[in-house]
Amino acid sequence: MTVSPYTLHCQSTECQARCGEIATLHGPIQTPVFMPVGTQASVKAMTPENLVEVGAQIILGNTYHLYLRPGHELIRSFGGLHRFMHWERPILTDSGGFQIFSLQDLAKITEEGASFRSHLDGSRLFLSPEDAVHVQEALGSDIMMALDTCIPYPASRDEAAKATALTARWARRCREAQTDTGQHLFGIVQGGMYADMRLAAIEQLVEIGFDGYALGGLSVGEPKELMYELLAATASHLPATHARYLMGVGTPEDLVEGVSQGVDMFDCVMPTRNARNGMLFTSQGRVVIKNSCFQHDQRPLDPTCGCYTCRHYSRAYLRHLFQSREILAYQLNSIHNLHYYCSLMTGMRNAIREDRFLAFRRDFYEQRTVPVSAH
Ligand SMILES: [Zn+2]
Repeated sequence: MTVSPYTLHCQSTECQARCGEIATLHGPIQTPVFMPVGTQASVKAMTPENLVEVGAQIILGNTYHLYLRPGHELIRSFGGLHRFMHWERPILTDSGGFQIFSLQDLAKITEEGASFRSHLDGSRLFLSPEDAVHVQEALGSDIMMALDTCIPYPASRDEAAKATALTARWARRCREAQTDTGQHLFGIVQGGMYADMRLAAIEQLVEIGFDGYALGGLSVGEPKELMYELLAATASHLPATHARYLMGVGTPEDLVEGVSQGVDMFDCVMPTRNARNGMLFTSQGRVVIKNSCFQHDQRPLDPTCGCYTCRHYSRAYLRHLFQSREILAYQLNSIHNLHYYCSLMTGMRNAIREDRFLAFRRDFYEQRTVPVSAH
C-alpha cells in the first residue's frame, strides 16, 4: 500500500469541485491544474521562462515521440527530461498508447504489447507495458502513465470489453515493472462509451493500486453530451484520496465542467495549436485574429488579461503578425492562450477555496455570451 501523493485541501459544498495538491519530485502542484502539452520536449513556441510567466505548474511530454526521437537513452544521459529541456517544474509523460494508435494504422496489439511502425522512418518497433515504464523512468518524469490501449469511437461493446480487459492486464504489468525511483505511476480507465465498463475498470485499477487515476479515451469524436454524461457517471467514482486526471480535454467549457465533476488535472493541445492557427481564447469568447474587424483595433486582445501579449500589443498588431506569418505571432498567441487557460484554473481554485464555484461557473458562461469578434 503506497501513500497517495494527493492531499485534499477543500471540497465544494455545492458540487464535486475540489482543491488540493499533488506532491512530486520537482515540487507540489496546486489542483485543479491545466498542463500545457510539450510533446517533443518543447511546448511549441514557448520557452520555459514563457511557461513560468503564464503560470504553468507542470507540462506534458510524450513517451512515444521521445522514444523515437531523440531516444530515451540520450535523454537519460542528460540526467533526464528536466535537464535536457531546461524545465525545473514537474513533468507528466503520457505512455504513448494513444499515439501508437492514432499516428498510424499498422499497430498490432498482442497480449505482450504493441508493435508499430515509426512515423519517422517506417522502422518496425515494439513497446511492452514494461518498456513504457522503463522509458518513462529514463525520461525522469514526475508522473508516468501506464500503457493503455485506445478504443476507437464508435466501438462495439465486445470490442470495448476486450480492449478494456487488456488495458487492465497491462496496468498490472506496468505497476510491477516500476522500480523505486520516486516517480508516480497513474492508471488509465478505459471502457469506451460504456459507463458500467468504466466503473468496473476503476475497481480493477484501484485493486492494483496507483498513485493517481486518469480517465482516458474521452474526447475521441463522441458527442459532447455523451462525454459529459460519462464524466458525470465516472469521475466521482475515482478514489477521492487520489488525483483524478481527464486526459486530452479540452475547451475552457470542458475544464469548468470537468472541475465541477471533481477532476483535478487536464491536458490539451488546443490552447497552443489554436494559437498557431490564430484562434485566441478570451474571457468574452473566441477571437479569430485574422478577421478584418481587427485591422485598426488598438485595444489589447483581452482587456481583462494580464499576460505579456495583452500588456504590450494591440489586436491590430497581432493580426498583422499573423497575416504576415511572422514567427512572433506563434509565440505571442501561445503566451496569451496558455495564460488564459492557467488563469482560468487559478480562478477556479480560488472559487472552490471560497466555496463559490457555482457562482464562478455562472459568471464564466455569462461573460462568454458576447463574442469579442462581434464588436
Ligand atoms: Zn493575454
